[in-house]
Amino acid sequence: MRFFDLTLILIAPVRRSLAVAFAGVALALAGCYSTGDLSTTAAQSPKNIIIMFADGAAATQWDFGRYSSKVLRQQPFVTTDVVFKEGALGALITSPSNAYATDSAAAGSAMSTGFKVNIGALSVTPDGKPVSTVMELAKAKGKRIGMVTTATVYDATPAAFSLHAKSRRDYQALVDQYLALEPDVLMGGGADYFLQKGVPGGKRKDGQDIIAAFRAKGYRIVRNTSELKTATGAKLLGLFADEDMDFEIDRDPAKEPSTAEMAAAALKALSQASPNGFVLLVENENIDTTSHANDAASLMRALWAFDDAVRVALEFQRSNPDTLLIVTGDHETGGFSPTYALKDLSTLSSKNRFYTGDEHLRMLGRITISLNAVNEKLGRKPSGETLDELVAKHFPGFRLDPDLREAILKQQTRERNFSYVTQNLLGRMVARQTGYYWGTAGHTTQPVLVGAMGPGAELFRGYQENTDFGRHLRRLIQGK
Ligand SMILES: [Zn+2]
Repeated sequence: MRFFDLTLILIAPVRRSLAVAFAGVALALAGCYSTGDLSTTAAQSPKNIIIMFADGAAATQWDFGRYSSKVLRQQPFVTTDVVFKEGALGALITSPSNAYATDSAAAGSAMSTGFKVNIGALSVTPDGKPVSTVMELAKAKGKRIGMVTTATVYDATPAAFSLHAKSRRDYQALVDQYLALEPDVLMGGGADYFLQKGVPGGKRKDGQDIIAAFRAKGYRIVRNTSELKTATGAKLLGLFADEDMDFEIDRDPAKEPSTAEMAAAALKALSQASPNGFVLLVENENIDTTSHANDAASLMRALWAFDDAVRVALEFQRSNPDTLLIVTGDHETGGFSPTYALKDLSTLSSKNRFYTGDEHLRMLGRITISLNAVNEKLGRKPSGETLDELVAKHFPGFRLDPDLREAILKQQTRERNFSYVTQNLLGRMVARQTGYYWGTAGHTTQPVLVGAMGPGAELFRGYQENTDFGRHLRRLIQGK
């Protein structure tokens, strides 16, 4: 890349024919190095960019989505089977500026601004400087912008792609920044910081009604699935939960739309009256949250829900080929490690091993509740009776070993990197009988995959930093 930049500088003063010759040599050389960094060649600028973002997903999660979808749903997994397979495929290093394992704020900021920031910061560099976000840049270029998430709309990823804060926990101020930014589409959970304290679900301390303020700016406000489906108009605020939206496994489809339904509504709204195109971010946060809980059954359904939304985006891309479709994540969560293991501790003999296969996947498929929902039902002082009832009702075929049961009742963590006691211990119950083990309740350093189709997709090929992802995106938006 540096080579060709230099060549351009060198050839500027020389005769045109020479310049063409030099450029030809440079291009030929650039072609010799398949570095994936093709900033040497003029990137085709897409009109629209759709970023499908699975928080917490790396290669192991994607492949779990692929084979579970094939075996249990008899459906291809679009992310791996179409986007990764037919598009440009790359990997991103995810570390923030001050550690190796990142959080979503630092990772999202790098992917939005092209700069590494500290854990917890939203598009503010370690020296305290806010740097323009992808969505700010897109808006300045006359593009329409949208953010969709299953988390709160002010959660780390959509916030890092559009706003600025030294701390991702400054929720009320982040919502105020959204009102000032006026994204054309904003959808997810998090009504709490739009509503004043005292009204149901409200947490704002300044007495303001930000939903009313959005309405006054011409937004259509939608609060449930049917309102979303009938919504017309080009500006949309969708708030479907006071806090995070539910996991797919627990979701009531009448109350909360699926990720695919939100993606379809966002594309419908954004593609209206958009001569300069749009940039849309669609995040499924539940892939991260279920992985923190070590909840393989809920993760599987979250991956399918995300992939259904990728299918919607892919269909849009196919009928609008001037659209760049990107599918990626920000970091891996959970050290997810399906593996072979001993059936019990009676002998270490390999004859006592089982290998994770379709029958174990089917066991996951029969689980009917998320581990977070079990934790909520049990509360801080779990009763043994309620615990046994929940396991019997929602985890058919599973047994809760006495050591795990006792640790849940005593609320004792088994290790320092397992901080969601009930969920992580039930996750271990599931692991012992299915082989879906987890290494941690936190994030890991595994690089994330990025797949891209459409104009500019080639920029994302290869093994790069997450800041490179941000740089490429910004370049494509700027049309350079
Ligand atoms: Zn996380």
